[in-house]
Amino acid sequence: MSDMKVAFEMGKIRLSLGSILPVRQLKNVQKNIRRYRTIRASIKEVGLVEPLMVHPQKDQAGVYLLLDGHLRYFALKELGETEADCIVATDDESFTYNARVSRLAPIQEHKMWRRLSSLRVQGTFLSPVPADSITLEQEPAPQSSLTLPPIKFIYGPSDMSREAAEMTVEAVTLEVPDSKTIKLKWPEGYDPVFKTGQFITCYWPDEPNYKRAYSLSSCALDRGFFEFTVRRDGKMGTRLVDWIKAGAKLMVLPPAGKFLPVYEPEKHLICIAGGSGVTPFRAYVREATRQKYQTKITVLYSVRTTNDIIFNDEFRRLEKENPNFKFDVTCTRLAPHDPWPGRRGRIDAAWLKAHVGDLANTVFYACGPTTLVEFAEGVVFELGAPKAQMKTEKWG
Ligand SMILES: Cc1cc2nc3c(=O)[nH]c(=O)nc-3n(C[C@H](O)[C@H](O)[C@H](O)COP(=O)(O)OP(=O)(O)OC[C@H]3O[C@@H](n4cnc5c(N)ncnc54)[C@H](O)[C@@H]3O)c2cc1C
Repeated sequence: MSDMKVAFEMGKIRLSLGSILPVRQLKNVQKNIRRYRTIRASIKEVGLVEPLMVHPQKDQAGVYLLLDGHLRYFALKELGETEADCIVATDDESFTYNARVSRLAPIQEHKMWRRLSSLRVQGTFLSPVPADSITLEQEPAPQSSLTLPPIKFIYGPSDMSREAAEMTVEAVTLEVPDSKTIKLKWPEGYDPVFKTGQFITCYWPDEPNYKRAYSLSSCALDRGFFEFTVRRDGKMGTRLVDWIKAGAKLMVLPPAGKFLPVYEPEKHLICIAGGSGVTPFRAYVREATRQKYQTKITVLYSVRTTNDIIFNDEFRRLEKENPNFKFDVTCTRLAPHDPWPGRRGRIDAAWLKAHVGDLANTVFYACGPTTLVEFAEGVVFELGAPKAQMKTEKWG
C-alpha cells in the first residue's frame, strides 16, 4: 500500500503578482484569442475563481514560479490587479517545461482521485495503471477540495509497467542540420501496448532526475524499436543531438499521452507543425498509409528554409503511396532569389482555409513549441472551428 503524496499545500495564500514569475510571456496576438478574452471578461465580472498554481523558487525566498494560470495571471495584470489567490504546489514535476503535456500531471490526477473518492465512484477509471489493479480506500465526504485527508492507493503488480526500461541506441540519423532521429532497440521481453502519437520520457542513466518527453516519430505498427526525433535545443536536446551515438544507453518510460489521430473514414486531419513539431505526424501518416485508412490527412509544415524540412523524402514518398495524404510546406526565411516553388511566409488563416473542405468533419492538430501551437490555435479559431475540433501538444 502506498500513500499518495499531496501535490499542493492545503489552503490558499494571497501573493503579490510581482512575486510571481511567469514561465512564458503573453504575446499581443495571444490577447486576441477567444480563450484569453473570455478569461479576462470573467475575471472582470466575478473575480478570480480558480487560484493560480505556483511553486516556491528554491534559491529566492518569497519568489514563486507560475506553473498554471498564465492567461489568468496576464488578465489580472491587465485589469490592474496587484494580488491573487494562489495554491502552492509541492510536487516539482509540474516545475519542468515538460509538465505542459497531454497527460495528467500529478496535481490534476490527485484532484481527480479526490473528487472520485468524494463521490464514492466505483468501477472503471481512467488511470495510469489498469483500473482493476487499484483499490481506492473509502473516506468521509470532503468539505472542500483543499481540506481533504490524504487518499491511499493500493497499486497492483501492473504498476511495475510504469518503470523505466534501459534501451540501447541502435542508430542515429541526421535529418536536418539541427535535428537527429534516434532509434532505440527494445530490450528482451519488452512489448508495450501503445498508440501512434504518444510520447516517451527519456533520461540518461547518469542523470536520473533530468527527464524529458519526446513524441514518437515511429508508429504503433513499428515493433521492436522506438524512434524519436530531437532538435538541438536546451540541455537535453543538445546532449542528445551532439553526443548520442549508436551503442549508448538511455532510460525510457513507457509511451503516454492523448495526442492521438482520429482515424475515421469521413474525417480530415489537418496537422499543423513547425520545426521538430512534425515528428508525431510522420507516425500518423505512416500508420494510416500502411493500414490503407480512408482518413484524409494534410500536414501543413512551417520551416525556416528548405534545408529544415524534416522527413521531406519520407513525406513525399508517402504522398505518392497514399492518395488521402497531402504534405504542404511553407518557408518563412528563404532568400528572395531561392528557386523554391512552394509557399513562403507564416501559417495564416487563408492558407489553412484553402485546405479545409468540410469544416464540420475537420480535426485540427498542432504540435511543437508553445508559441507556435498557441498561434495555430488562434488561426484555427479564426476559421470558426470549435475548440473540441482541435488537439494540441505543447512542448514548452
Ligand atoms: C509531449 C512532449 C513531446 C516532445 N517531443 C519532442 C520531440 O519530438 N522533439 C524535440 O526536439 N523536443 C520534444 N519535446 C521537447 C523536449 O522534451 C525538451 O524540452 C527539449 O528537447 C529541450 O530540452 P530541455 O528541456 O532539456 O531544455 P532546457 O535546457 O530546459 O531549455 C528549455 C528551453 O529554454 C531555453 N533556454 C534554456 N536556458 C535558457 C536561457 N538561459 N535563456 C533563454 N532561453 C533558455 C532553451 O533554448 C529551450 O528552448 C517534447 C516535449 C513534450 C512536452
